[in-house]
Amino acid sequence: MIFNCHTHIGDAFIELPQKKFSVYELVAPPDGLKHKMLEKASKTEILNGMKRAVRIMEGCGTDIFIDFREGGIEGIELLKEAIRDSKIKAIILARPKNMKYDEEEMEKLLDMSHGIGISSIADWNFEELEMIVNHVKDRKKIFAMHASEDKREDIDKILDLEPHFLVHLCKATEEDINEVAKKKIGVVVCPRANKFFGLKPPISLLLEKNVSVMLGTDNAMIVKPNIIEEMKFLVKNYGVEKNIAIKMISNTPLKIFGEILKNHVYS
Ligand SMILES: [Zn+2]
Repeated sequence: MIFNCHTHIGDAFIELPQKKFSVYELVAPPDGLKHKMLEKASKTEILNGMKRAVRIMEGCGTDIFIDFREGGIEGIELLKEAIRDSKIKAIILARPKNMKYDEEEMEKLLDMSHGIGISSIADWNFEELEMIVNHVKDRKKIFAMHASEDKREDIDKILDLEPHFLVHLCKATEEDINEVAKKKIGVVVCPRANKFFGLKPPISLLLEKNVSVMLGTDNAMIVKPNIIEEMKFLVKNYGVEKNIAIKMISNTPLKIFGEILKNHVYS
């Protein structure tokens, strides 16, 4: 079974201008260019982009992808629509439409998805985030988040939220990685998307500390969601052995998400 462990296929319709962006300018909610484009776009435009992304994933043999789904309830419905005629499966990690905890919205989001995936601790009021996490835990679903992508974030605060897995850690220090390893939290790395921002995930350090490392393609507007290309890039540019890279898209995510896939069937 082949996994793409981190995608945002909702932004596949966006054609980026030829210029440099920081993470903040491009993807941070609510003001990043991506979010402005999503607001302006029609449903059909977004959906067609998602369908193109799904075809790319199918084309490279992906069985399942783990999507950080923006746009609240409507966003989940769009993704389900995009995969309706496909054999590909999605682990959907939704997020509230606004950067706020709303009990009723959360209940619906969790009914329809496998859990919640948020942008980063820096974008949120910590108390709101704690309420979200508590709700996710009550419903025994997944909570995941981006962490230390382009600046170091407080790893103790992040780990207090008991995430199922983290994405990026480009700016994490060795001590931060020690903490992640101690708590046995899996980490998804997306080296090609990171390269776009001039960033590098600490892959050899993560492997050295026996962290469960998984591979994803991140924003579809930056990198086409072809996980095999991502794996080749990793082997070529990070000196990771091919058999280790294959594990990052097969055995490791299967170990982490296998149970969840069995137990949490969404409607
Ligand atoms: Zn991401």
